[in-house]
Amino acid sequence: MLNLFNTLSREKQKFKPIKDNQVGFYACGLTVYDYAHIGNLRTYIFEDVLKRVLLFNGYKVKHIMNITDVGHLSGENLGDADQGEDKVEKAARKAGKSPKEITDFYTDAFKKDLTDLHILFPDIWCPATEHVNDMIQLIKKIEENGYTYISGGNVYFDTAKFETYSELSKIKLDELKHGARVEVDKNKRNPSDFVLWFTVSEKFKDHLQQWDSPWGMGWPGWHIECSAMSSKYLGEQFDIHTGGEDHINVHHTNEIAQSEAAFGKKPWVRFWLHGAFLVLEKEKMSKSLGNFITLTTLKEKGFTPMHYRYFCFTAHYRKPLVFSMEALEGAKQSFEILKSKIIQIKMDAPEIHAPVVPENDSFYTSFLEAVNDDLNMPRALAVVYDLIKNTEIKPKDKLNLLYVFDKILGFNFREFTEEEVELTEELKELLQKREEARRNKDFKTADELREILKKKGFVIEDTASGPKLRRI
Ligand code: AMP
Ligand code: ZN
Repeated sequence: MLNLFNTLSREKQKFKPIKDNQVGFYACGLTVYDYAHIGNLRTYIFEDVLKRVLLFNGYKVKHIMNITDVGHLSGENLGDADQGEDKVEKAARKAGKSPKEITDFYTDAFKKDLTDLHILFPDIWCPATEHVNDMIQLIKKIEENGYTYISGGNVYFDTAKFETYSELSKIKLDELKHGARVEVDKNKRNPSDFVLWFTVSEKFKDHLQQWDSPWGMGWPGWHIECSAMSSKYLGEQFDIHTGGEDHINVHHTNEIAQSEAAFGKKPWVRFWLHGAFLVLEKEKMSKSLGNFITLTTLKEKGFTPMHYRYFCFTAHYRKPLVFSMEALEGAKQSFEILKSKIIQIKMDAPEIHAPVVPENDSFYTSFLEAVNDDLNMPRALAVVYDLIKNTEIKPKDKLNLLYVFDKILGFNFREFTEEEVELTEELKELLQKREEARRNKDFKTADELREILKKKGFVIEDTASGPKLRRI
């Protein structure tokens, strides 16, 4: 039984799809005006685990991810407000490139990061700029249903007309009026109102990305993009919507308001899951603070994407994870030890081409319970270590289980091999002596030599073409 923490109820709930065993799953994608930072990537790793756990439980998953290539406005201290400048436009101007050149470049970089991190791709990628007509149609529906007003040329959503506006965030509207969440915008009737359609105003007369609409030339607001694209591919009501926890109060709250205002279906989305932030020891990660770390930064410092994936599994996805190079170094060492142990098991067992889910196996049950308990990866990892340590289970059965678990872990255990070692004279000599001892059936000496090599950090693998050394 799969239990997931639903932000709507603030409780773990038994997961059941709306329709049979089909799951409609929408994940907010990256705003592609720069590289993804490792905080963003933590969220995509959590979402990857969610998808893998759904598949593991036998569900069919239709996974949609958008690419925000227009409409997300900048302004660090404005939160997700409607002032500021479009992030993509700003980056394009700064680089002297077209918005498309910028978004194509960073979309490719994002996809490469996901590939490196073994994150399964969505079934459909949907760039916002290719769905502007869907957004316009949705705004028209919201307008027809009486939830909008036009002010300063822009189309706004009137949150006062939507009674359950605070259902997800649990923030009362009157608290918002005094709060600092949203910058005062004199065009708004209520501080929480937000723009559905921006028109090309005096301030933004040079906006590069603009489309014709019933309200004039302009571009869509960021929130309407996700409502329009998710419903286009998943229907007017669907199962799961995810993102980082920063999206709860504004982006997702606004998505719910406009979607329910348009479709009249409640709840629009059954399960909302949010990943906690990756934080630095003292401050938040942001470009303006100069502490923006990417996957490439980590690679340059000698880490692999799998070290980072493993690091993310050391904390539950709903707990903040404090990042430091030292903490990542610890994860790297643990991962490398795990890797060497798995390689050892692989050497002791025949390769398994089609792993099978064992019946009544206590390790399997514990692993399944851990991942089905709101994706508890630290607990799932502990089961992996218990299995590896166990001396009663045969290597063949261990390897089978490890391959089964890897469907969720996504480390690709199958590809774990030691790099071949270039032999120094000393290593060559030790290896030859051990071969001689074996030929002479002097197994005691052969074993001693194996031990000496092991102390030096090598294991001997006997292959058809003779003995080979692998690094532990
Ligand atoms: P954005 O490009 O701003 O739309 O963000 C892409 C995804 O990364 C969203 O789901 C955000 O909620 C998430 N995100 C942003 N910063 C962090 C962070 N420091 N830790 C974890 N997730 C983050
Ligand atoms: Zn979104």
